[in-house]
Amino acid sequence: MTARRARRPAPIVVEGDSGSISIQPDARMDLYSTFRVGGTADFLVRVADESDVLLAMQWADDHNLPVTVFGGGSNMLVADHGIRGLVLVVRKPGRDVAAELELLDEDSDAVTISVPAAAPLTWLGREASQRGWAGMTWAVGLPGNVGGATVNNAGAHGTEFKDALVGLRLIEDGRRLVDRDREWLSPEYRMTRLKAGGNPKRDVVTRVTLQLERGDADALRAEAEQHAEYRHATQPTGKCAGSIFKNPPGDFSGRLIEELGLKGTRVGGAQVSPIHANFIVNEEDATAADIVGLIELVQARVAEATGTELHTEIERVGEWNQ
Ligand SMILES: Cc1cc2nc3c(=O)[nH]c(=O)nc-3n(C[C@H](O)[C@H](O)[C@H](O)COP(=O)(O)OP(=O)(O)OC[C@H]3O[C@@H](n4cnc5c(N)ncnc54)[C@H](O)[C@@H]3O)c2cc1C
Repeated sequence: MTARRARRPAPIVVEGDSGSISIQPDARMDLYSTFRVGGTADFLVRVADESDVLLAMQWADDHNLPVTVFGGGSNMLVADHGIRGLVLVVRKPGRDVAAELELLDEDSDAVTISVPAAAPLTWLGREASQRGWAGMTWAVGLPGNVGGATVNNAGAHGTEFKDALVGLRLIEDGRRLVDRDREWLSPEYRMTRLKAGGNPKRDVVTRVTLQLERGDADALRAEAEQHAEYRHATQPTGKCAGSIFKNPPGDFSGRLIEELGLKGTRVGGAQVSPIHANFIVNEEDATAADIVGLIELVQARVAEATGTELHTEIERVGEWNQ
């Protein structure tokens, strides 16, 4: 570990009108994805605010580099060959997201709030419940950030991020700060127009606006804790990226996989979780190729036995063909 650090190239500091960003060459991407696999990114920058995003996108344009956007990296599978260009991570240590929550409007029934994309989703779930704002209890215990949840239209327990979403603020095409409404985002089951485009991306979400009904704080807190406990009891806690496959209409991918006896199946260091069949865990120093091999094995076995085609929910990023 020390040897790795010693060989790390020095960061490139880019000065802008309202601050500077530090760009790390040859950055280890296993540190930025919950699967804990993948090669290095040519360059990586962690951004704190909108001016950082603009500066980073300008630097990438000046150097003709594609940009791959990361939130919490909890839905990403990074290629073993790494990621070419710049990885822009919308989270920076030391940022006080609680201080950045803005109350835009309120009446006796509901509140309208603005939240930074960098805010952890589970924090938002807890904070909203504690304040007696309903509609976010499902988010407690989910990894990732508000920006990633917006792009993925994350959800659980019958609720989706879109249910509370009013609009979003983003840096569009790497240069314009614009406000868009929910209809523009076109959210569907684990899909939006920003997700459909995949990576590299030129649009970076910086804030979202949510409308939440008022509720009883004690009841909301209890509901949130119940959801978190259920998650803890039914899902693996190791290195993974959540549900691997979307649920086919009217069924559950986990049920189909479990019924075929595939729990515990391995390819290299990757294993179908013995706890939840729709999770693949990086059990023993898996490579991204192991995980893809296991995904394809499961897809083939399910298609063969049931005729159902399973589509992945996770996103593959980086350089896969070499
Ligand atoms: C243990 C575990 C359990 C999970 N359970 C669930 C679940 O119950 N329900 C569910 O829906 N998901 C679940 N997930 C998946 C994941 O946590 C969610 O999809 C989460 O919302 C992704 O957020 P993220 O910040 O990690 O996004 P990332 O994985 O970093 O990125 C996801 C996508 O969003 C884009 N993106 C991220 N931030 C921005 C931004 N600011 N601007 C533009 N694009 C951006 C990325 O480019 C990428 O396309 C689980 C994951 C794990 C590890």
